[in-house]
Amino acid sequence: MQLPAFDWIFFDCFNTLIDDFDAAGEEGSLLSVPQLAVESGFFPGLAEFRAAYAKVRSQTLRLGRETVLMDRLRQTLEESPVKRSREECAAEAARLLAIWEVEYGALLRPTPGVEEMLRHWYARRTLAVVTNSLVPGMPQRQLERFGLSRFFRFVLDSATHGFKKPNPLLGMEALSMAGLGPCDGPQVLAVGDRHDVDIVSALDLGMHVLHFNRGRIRPGVPPTPEGTPAIHDWSEFR
Ligand SMILES: [Mg+2]
Repeated sequence: MQLPAFDWIFFDCFNTLIDDFDAAGEEGSLLSVPQLAVESGFFPGLAEFRAAYAKVRSQTLRLGRETVLMDRLRQTLEESPVKRSREECAAEAARLLAIWEVEYGALLRPTPGVEEMLRHWYARRTLAVVTNSLVPGMPQRQLERFGLSRFFRFVLDSATHGFKKPNPLLGMEALSMAGLGPCDGPQVLAVGDRHDVDIVSALDLGMHVLHFNRGRIRPGVPPTPEGTPAIHDWSEFR
């Protein structure tokens, strides 16, 4: 394909390098966490848990800050109609998070053709991962697990940094880690599966963009907006 000139490639992680969507196309969600919170008596039913979680989530998403899943769960449990101490909520949140990490890990698999694509570009450009994550360090750990971390100069995740895409602060930090200035976006090609998150934030920083549209294998993915370069399979990215 016809590509612009660039020195770096910043990849998104989930549903770009590693897939987490299920058969219905849904991204890795809370899995059995709501049910467990009901069983341990914090909420009378799933609907009450989900309402409390949604309230906490909407508060924490203001200003583009990332709130790690541990904190989201603890704050959700503190909304329980049955009053519990802060320590009880923190202990239950830690228990739920540990179960969630095992379940979520079992969902994950490398995207088709990703290793061949990375081997190609590793020989030609400098690669990094700049990604949203609900758990600090999880993208790095999962990339290591699948033997993919060796391709990247660095892995920056929003749970470690504090801000999440589409807030441009995460990408600004990535430019700095790459030894680039805030106006050096044109030296970077940003690749990601979410147009509203990955592509929009990269364009704000002047980067070149490539939308990895997963619509061929993932249900419910909208078409790439007119004017944005896109691929549907890693074999097209050479
Ligand atoms: Mg993604």
